[in-house]
Amino acid sequence: MRPRVLLVASEAIPLVKTGGLADVITALAGALHEKNIEVSIFLPGYPSALAGATALAKVAVLDDLPGGPACLYRGRMPDSKIPVILLETESFRVRSGNPYVDANGDEYPDNAVSFAALCHAAVRICAARTPLAAPHIVHANDWHAGLIPLLLRSNDIKQIGSVLTIHNLAFQGNYPIELGPSLGIPADLLNPDGIELWGKLSFLKAGIQYADRISIVSESYAREVLTPQFGNGLDGILNHRKQAIVAISNGIDMRLWNPAKDPLIARHFTQRTLRNKNFCKQDLLAMFKLPADPFAPLLALGSRITHQKMADVALAALPAILDKYPRMQVVVLGRGERAYEDGFIELSRRYPGRLGVHIGYEERLAHALHAGADMLLHGTRFEPYGLTPIYSMRYGTIPIASRVGGLIDTIIDAGTGSTPCKGANGILFDGEQAADMIAAVDRAFKMFGNSDHWLTMQRNAMSGDFSWHDPVRKYVEMYSEIASAAAKPLFAAALSAKSCRLPDLAVARR
Ligand code: ADP
Repeated sequence: MRPRVLLVASEAIPLVKTGGLADVITALAGALHEKNIEVSIFLPGYPSALAGATALAKVAVLDDLPGGPACLYRGRMPDSKIPVILLETESFRVRSGNPYVDANGDEYPDNAVSFAALCHAAVRICAARTPLAAPHIVHANDWHAGLIPLLLRSNDIKQIGSVLTIHNLAFQGNYPIELGPSLGIPADLLNPDGIELWGKLSFLKAGIQYADRISIVSESYAREVLTPQFGNGLDGILNHRKQAIVAISNGIDMRLWNPAKDPLIARHFTQRTLRNKNFCKQDLLAMFKLPADPFAPLLALGSRITHQKMADVALAALPAILDKYPRMQVVVLGRGERAYEDGFIELSRRYPGRLGVHIGYEERLAHALHAGADMLLHGTRFEPYGLTPIYSMRYGTIPIASRVGGLIDTIIDAGTGSTPCKGANGILFDGEQAADMIAAVDRAFKMFGNSDHWLTMQRNAMSGDFSWHDPVRKYVEMYSEIASAAAKPLFAAALSAKSCRLPDLAVARR
């Protein structure tokens, strides 16, 4: 028998994605599958998920969940062997755009009850109260699945180990405490010793309180969240549960983000054929309707356009940068807070032919951006892991990024000297002022001016190992520690067994 893991989340590519969580869930599931673990992804039944999953079949009707009756479907992830379970409810069924907010950007009023239903349904599966096989480990991700460890406890389910992975502590799922009974939360837990946080009930705190292990997606972020500066009001409880915290870095899907094979870029390249990157640059400039200038450095921004991602700082810094470097061109891809989006559009009018903006969410453009740019500007006030700069490094695009969270672990700063430090693959900067960002861009330009130094940094960046190889082993070790006595040997066997490799989904998926 293989060990079973139920991976519960709100996003997984290619079915639904708003950020890095979606990439991580699907890639982690693939890596666990390769370790011979029977992993299923459990997601809300959004329209895109119901339409995208293959071989879907209804397996159960759950008629007493918070929010009303629901259907459980089981199928497979597209072009994959990984099983996916979808919970179709009245509220998830109509979320055809962003899964958390409506067209005006306002949070759906029934988010609490909808995600509580997802958690209750997961616990039904754990309790073997559906036709689906109960897992040995339930792995909850972010606040959306945060009630699961609490519900396991209140339902007295002891034989299943629970993990909560925190991908972003800023999103906590905090709601009026009066909702507790309608969400199926026992009244004796609706207090500060339970899941109350500053007068509200908190899904994320529920996970932190009751999960057997809390995993955090980089070493540096795991240290930071224990401080008031980065703890978002949860540092106290996280310190209290410090013994249960495990730092496990994310990985990236090295096959999906691979300049040698990526079907979404204009020309393939490797470290040895880096000159082909130029075709990708021309292609990117054309997409943004900017004139081609072979010697102009191209700076890219590609992320959610939010306060977290320092959109305000970039808006303040870019005019000075563009004025200082008259040949420089800038492309911006992102979506987020309206005022910042408008700010970038305004900048594109002020610098025609030099700054191009695409407001939207487009996977293809994200690949083209990483492949075609020379540098990626990635300011951020906090960063649990930071997939985006890693994607850029894979394509020899040098990140200029904030020295926070996972970026500290993955980017090696070039330093301030005239030659890059050993192993340097990017530029890291401290601070949240425009001047801090401008100074970092200045340092990058100094390196860019010396083609040998730049090439060295590009090669360092492209040769980094950001695969799931080590992270997945750590996950399985953690599962093994918290699994029941009967399941432990199954995880131990998975750890020592030879990997069963999945077909190259990256290419098949396109
Ligand atoms: P976060 O999860 O905080 O948004 P990450 O950098 O870890 O940050 O992950 C962001 C993911 O979302 C990456 O896969 C990135 O390519 C993608 N992404 C962000 N904005 C866009 C966009 N506008 N279009 C396409 N992909 C985007």
